[in-house]
Amino acid sequence: MALQPCTETPDKTINNDLHPQASEKTPVQGVATQDFPVLKERGQREVFCGLTGIVWLHRKMQDAFFLVVGSRTCAHLIQSAAGVMIFAEPRFGTAVLGERDLAGLADANDELERVVAQLLSRRPDIKTLFLVGSCPSEVIKLDLAKAAEKLNHRYFPGVRVLNYSGSGIETTFTEGEDACLASMVPVLPEKETEAPALMVVGSLADVVEDQFKRLFDQMGIGPVSFFPPRRASSLPSVGKGTKLLIAQPFLSGTARLLMARGAELLPSPYPFGIEGTTTWLKTAAEAWGIDADVFDQAIAPAVARATTGLEHYKQVLNGRKAFLFPDSQLEIPLARFLSRECGMELIEVGTPYIDRLLMDAEIALLPKGTALSEGQDVEKQLDRCREARPDITVCGLGLANPLEAEGLSTKWSIELVFSPLHGYDQTADLAELFVRSTERRRRLSV
Ligand code: SF4
Repeated sequence: MALQPCTETPDKTINNDLHPQASEKTPVQGVATQDFPVLKERGQREVFCGLTGIVWLHRKMQDAFFLVVGSRTCAHLIQSAAGVMIFAEPRFGTAVLGERDLAGLADANDELERVVAQLLSRRPDIKTLFLVGSCPSEVIKLDLAKAAEKLNHRYFPGVRVLNYSGSGIETTFTEGEDACLASMVPVLPEKETEAPALMVVGSLADVVEDQFKRLFDQMGIGPVSFFPPRRASSLPSVGKGTKLLIAQPFLSGTARLLMARGAELLPSPYPFGIEGTTTWLKTAAEAWGIDADVFDQAIAPAVARATTGLEHYKQVLNGRKAFLFPDSQLEIPLARFLSRECGMELIEVGTPYIDRLLMDAEIALLPKGTALSEGQDVEKQLDRCREARPDITVCGLGLANPLEAEGLSTKWSIELVFSPLHGYDQTADLAELFVRSTERRRRLSV
């Protein structure tokens, strides 16, 4: 095993189990999701595995290190996704399983311990170390949970060692964040009192976090904690009285584990666009019994700024057709924003999974008759997309250039996860992302 700097998951149905990954799999076509018929497809897929989450998680938690235990393929994936960041002092890397590890000639656990010792002696700034499982480590049944426990005995309290899986067998793209946060839930300190406290769940850019914090302060909502925190070593407490306001729609496992520790979920649409952000903040305001005038006053300046900023993009997008391929689970909230605030027509809204617990409030806001699809059979979906000739197609990097070559404007969905797009002050930036590619196509055409 050597330390190196640095798509496809099981089906899942909608239920309220603590562990949705383990839920029963039912590949059924045309199953009704309340009043929305959902096309459930299973076939070839074009998605990232959960390792990609490391790219934004390591930026968020500045004292954490993500050590992937995987193959050169995994190292390449992280390196390509993280781009130039690999040249800075990285806080992620891959312990590459060599042939001797795979053939069982070397004790992979001993090798891992050696790599971790080498890493921690070189990097005293690391306070939390995540051992991240991959397809190869899972296939050879390397028990990273046990390895993390053993390493914890050696390094805690100086360094806490946790583990989760980001493998393509178990996770799709943003589910990597869900798995990472879920691994932290058991070590969150127990809340000392039952007094209400707000926990915002889902990694947000620091600038967005500060904006929300200011708004909560103005309304008198608090205390507020953000999970994940900026430093993995200062974990927020959880227990009775914790109210969860979820900022990212892909945190099914984390939300359920927090609820199992006594927290209460405040179901809400997500803070994308003006409407989404207002409804999201209102959900918290209602839970705290905040006066409507106080609420309106607190949000008014930001709403006014966002409305002005959005105006131009709204005119460009109005009446245009959008087709969203499944990728990040952000598709439904984004489709709601594009349709209700930008006047776009939704041809199809694809998403890897629909978890009713976290998505009902969003689905209720979609226009009646929206074609929702869950899972993917990429060839069939491409045929539907080509036939509809949408004005903008939201899809992963693998499909974007081929579709551009066919004359369709595309938006890389990965940018929607990497960029700060939540909240009022980012609303115009969010709309601009969808305008940019059509605008570029228009400028380049002669
Ligand atoms: S975890 Fe699996 S899907 Fe992801 S890069 Fe490694 S081998 Fe590929």
